[in-house]
Amino acid sequence: MTLPYPYKIYDNVTCIIPSDVLDMGVKGVLLDIDGTLMRTKDKSPAPEVMNWINDLKNSGIAVYVLSNNKHPERVKNFAESIGAQWTYLAHKPAKSGFIKAAGSLKLKHSQIAVIGDQIYTDMFGAARCGMRGLLVNSMDTYLWYYYPRHILELLFWREKHR
Ligand SMILES: [Mg+2]
Repeated sequence: MTLPYPYKIYDNVTCIIPSDVLDMGVKGVLLDIDGTLMRTKDKSPAPEVMNWINDLKNSGIAVYVLSNNKHPERVKNFAESIGAQWTYLAHKPAKSGFIKAAGSLKLKHSQIAVIGDQIYTDMFGAARCGMRGLLVNSMDTYLWYYYPRHILELLFWREKHR
């Protein structure tokens, strides 16, 4: 049975050091947008997040945007701003979006990390596909459904290898 434990947990994305990602054997990352890189109500990420994405790319790590957001222009505009391929309405944790992204990046699933803020979409999808799940605290704590959702997440809010 596949359980949605993350591989590692970070305070926020800028705490994920590119050289550490490479040390995991990871050559590409699938980035969630909402709650991970910016708040769902924001139009663009903070400058330090954009710098972090640049650091990832400059380290030779391929970047792909995999979002469940239903607005194609939101996902497209952001992905194009960082020069990444993208999928919107990915229906994570469904495997199809993860598999499509791996194909686009031409990487094995074991060479991919999924960076996201949700256990039952990002981390579960990663686990189902044999990818590493890197979990960050959500930036969307202002949403009314954040706390009910988070209570259900606490069951798996633990690094898999600990
Ligand atoms: Mg999210």
